[in-house]
Amino acid sequence: MSLPELPAPTRRIYCNRTLNLRSIQVVGFDMDYTLIHYRTEAWERHAFDHAKRLLLERGWPVRAFELDPSFAQLGLILDLELGNIVKANRFGFIKKALHGTSPLSFETYREIYARELVDLSEGRWRFLNTLFALSEAHLYAQCIDLLDAGALPDAEGPMSYRDVYDVVRKAIDDVHMRGDLKREIMADPDRFVELDPDLPLALQDLRHAGKKVALITNSEWFYTTAMMSYAFDRYLDGAGWRSLFDVVIVAARKPDFFHARNPIFEIVDDDDGLLRPVVGPLEEGGAYLGGHAWLLEELFGIAGQQLLYVGDHIFSDVNVSKKMHRWRTALVVRELEEDIVALEAFKAKQKELSERMEQKARLEHDASHVRLELQRKRRGYGPPVAESANVLESRFHELRSELVALDEAIAPLAREASQLMNPRWGLVMRAGNDKSHLARQIEKSADIYMSRVSNLLAQTPFVYLRSPRGSLPHDSGPAGGAQ
Ligand code: IMP
Ligand code: MG
Repeated sequence: MSLPELPAPTRRIYCNRTLNLRSIQVVGFDMDYTLIHYRTEAWERHAFDHAKRLLLERGWPVRAFELDPSFAQLGLILDLELGNIVKANRFGFIKKALHGTSPLSFETYREIYARELVDLSEGRWRFLNTLFALSEAHLYAQCIDLLDAGALPDAEGPMSYRDVYDVVRKAIDDVHMRGDLKREIMADPDRFVELDPDLPLALQDLRHAGKKVALITNSEWFYTTAMMSYAFDRYLDGAGWRSLFDVVIVAARKPDFFHARNPIFEIVDDDDGLLRPVVGPLEEGGAYLGGHAWLLEELFGIAGQQLLYVGDHIFSDVNVSKKMHRWRTALVVRELEEDIVALEAFKAKQKELSERMEQKARLEHDASHVRLELQRKRRGYGPPVAESANVLESRFHELRSELVALDEAIAPLAREASQLMNPRWGLVMRAGNDKSHLARQIEKSADIYMSRVSNLLAQTPFVYLRSPRGSLPHDSGPAGGAQ
C-alpha cells in the first residue's frame, strides 16, 4: 500500500502551539471564508458597488470609483485620525503608509509615524481582520481623497477623517445587513464561490473519528442554507450538508457570542427559518439562531481546551474565543498560499541576498575596527597601533567603497524581496525582515493556521501538530548575532 506524501508547503497546517488533534472532542467551524471560500475580487467588487450606490444616494461624488482588489491586503491597518492605511511590523512600528490612495513622502511618514506605535486596542486603528474588509479599505481611501480635495457635499458640514470612516463603515455594514447583496450572490453562486471538493470528506473524517462537528456562523439562516447546500450537497450523495454537523448555530453575533449570554432560538422549519425560543439545553442535531459559547460547551459536556474552533476572522473567531473560553483555535488564511509560492520562487535570490547581507555585516565590522584604530592613534590612547594614520585612512576608504558597491548589488534584491506577493505591501505575513502585525496576531491567538480547512484532509484527524523550536536572534551563532 502506498501512503500519500506529506502535503506541499502551501497545503500544510502550521503550528504555533502544540495541538494533538486526537485530544479534541468538538471541532467548530465558521462558515464565510472558512468553509465557504469566496472569489474575493467578485464578492468585494459587488459589496463595493453596493456601498458606492449608498454613498451616491447621499450625494457623494463617487460615481467614478472602482475597486482595485490589490489596493489593500489582509492585516493592514486604517489610521482613522489621519486618513491613512498602514502596514506595521510585529511591534506595531509602521513600515509602509498611504494617505488616501497616495504614498506618503518619506519626510511626512517619518514626521508622523517616527514615534507612533499601532495599538489595536485604541479606537484610532482599524485592523483589516478579514477579506470582507478589502472593499471598505479602498472605498475609505478614495473618500479621503475626496475630503482632501474639498469635494464632499457642503451639506455634510466640516468632516474629519474619522467622520468619513463612519459613513463608509455604515455603508458597508448596510450592504452586509440588507438582503439584496446576499440574494444576488445566492442567485449566481458560481460567480462568487470557489468550490473545494476535498472539504466534505475532511469533515466526514473528523465525525467518523468520533468528534462532534459544529457550524457557528454570523450569517443568517437563509444565506447559510443556500451557501452550504450549494458548496456541499453535490458531494454528499443526497445526504445533504446538515449530515456533516452535530449542531448548527447561525446569526451567532461573534464576537459577542463568546462573552454575552444572548438569547437562543431553535429553527423549527428549515425552509422558512421559523423560530421557537429554546427552553432547556440544546440538542444534538439541532439548528439554532443566536445564543452563546457556554451553551455549546454544555451541549457536549466539555471544557474549552477540548474544542477546536476554526475561523478566518483573527479577532472575532480566534482572539476572543481563546481569551474568553480558552478554546483551541485555528485560523484560515488563504493568502498564505500566495506568500509561500512567492517565497519559493524567490528562494535562489533570497540566498544571494542573505549571503550579501552577511558579507555586508563582515565589511561593516572591519570598517568599524579600522575607524576605531584611527581614533586611538589620533587621540593617543589605548594599545599601540602599528600602521600609520595614512594607511589606516586609506584602508577605511577602501572598505567604504566596497560597502557602497555591495549596497548597489543588495538594493535591487531587497526591493524585489519587499514587493513579493503585492508590489505595494509585500508578503502578508512579513513586514520587511520582520513578522507583520498580522503574523504577530496569529502567533498570539491561533494555535494553528492553514490556507484552507481541507488541508486537514491530508493531515488526518489523528495528527499531532508540534510547534517548531522557537527561533531567537542568537540561534544562528556569532554572524546572526552581529547583524
Ligand atoms: P462568518 O464568517 O461565517 O461568521 O460570517 C460572516 C458574516 O458576517 C457574513 O454573513 C458577512 O456578510 C457578515 N459581515 C461581514 N462584514 C460585515 C459587516 O461589516 N457588517 C455586517 N455583517 C458583516
Ligand atoms: Mg468567516
